[in-house]
Amino acid sequence: MPRTSFSSISADLESWFRRHARDLPWRRLRTPWTALLSEALLQQTQVARITERFPEFLRRFPTPRAMARAGEAAVLEAWRGLGYYRRARSLHAAAVCIVERHGGEVPSDPQALRALPGVGRYTAGAVASLAFGQREPIVDGNVTRVLARLSDRREPVADTAGQSWCWQQATHLVQAAKNPGVTNEALMELGATICTPRSPACGRCPLSAQCGSRKAGSQAQVPVPRAPPVQRPLVLHALVEIRAGRVALQRKSDGLWQGLLVPPCSQASPTATAAEVTRSMPGMRAGRRLAEVDFVTTHRRIRFIVRAARLPASGDFTWVPLGRLRHRAVPAAALRVIEAARQAWPGSC
Ligand code: SF4
Repeated sequence: MPRTSFSSISADLESWFRRHARDLPWRRLRTPWTALLSEALLQQTQVARITERFPEFLRRFPTPRAMARAGEAAVLEAWRGLGYYRRARSLHAAAVCIVERHGGEVPSDPQALRALPGVGRYTAGAVASLAFGQREPIVDGNVTRVLARLSDRREPVADTAGQSWCWQQATHLVQAAKNPGVTNEALMELGATICTPRSPACGRCPLSAQCGSRKAGSQAQVPVPRAPPVQRPLVLHALVEIRAGRVALQRKSDGLWQGLLVPPCSQASPTATAAEVTRSMPGMRAGRRLAEVDFVTTHRRIRFIVRAARLPASGDFTWVPLGRLRHRAVPAAALRVIEAARQAWPGSC
């Protein structure tokens, strides 16, 4: 696209955004911290859910210092039900870094932002442009889709070459923008509300006159998808002990579900015996098989073999009342495992 197009696109975006921006809680109180907090929450989670939860988050953690002081476990608890708990751990670690390295103030320098845990190029660009007005580009799924359609790009945009192209386009756009933060936010907003994946509302789009895919009628084919990621199979034997209406959970110290509460699990073959399952789990006794639960993540296809268990009294377990599971940092996979155990073994509750 020529430079004149970028300045005209950003002008149209900014004008449209000033009239049509959604009233979202983090936009009412825009500070560097609310920008960072909202971007961390919004990654891979629907706006409606974060709209509900954001005020409570801000009340509990009004500053980076408050979050650092509250501790990782408090952030994980507040994050319950939002999934992708790695982001919660990173957010807390970022708050600690902001306190230790930047005196409790979110830095404005994009390089300093990117040095914070969990802050990549997108989040750094969003905070630098939205909160500090800097000419930093942003590219996320919504932006990628709008840029691909504007140029009617017929090659994949989610791969390395495609993403590099998107960042170049987004950079040209903020360089041509009058207000880089507004242009960036408008671009994201357009992708979220008008230029949606399946049914873009081209008739209401401020960029319709400049859009290549609209001219070609190819909105349904653009962006071109890439091949789905390979999902590796994994078999986990989950040991569930339920006693007096409470279930024994362990806080994972690493790997998948790090920092979250899950039943003790052992990776073993689907045909492993109870003795084989507990070989590396001192003091634990695996009982009969109760159920199987399949759970899919982006990169794994997990089969849980749910077993009754007898766990050592001295173990490092958190006994969580069954009725409180959804109020604790228990991932969806563990909830399904526990529910399968309850269904198969109702006498346990
Ligand atoms: S005209 Fe349609 S396809 Fe093009 S950017 Fe606007 S909503 Fe998207």
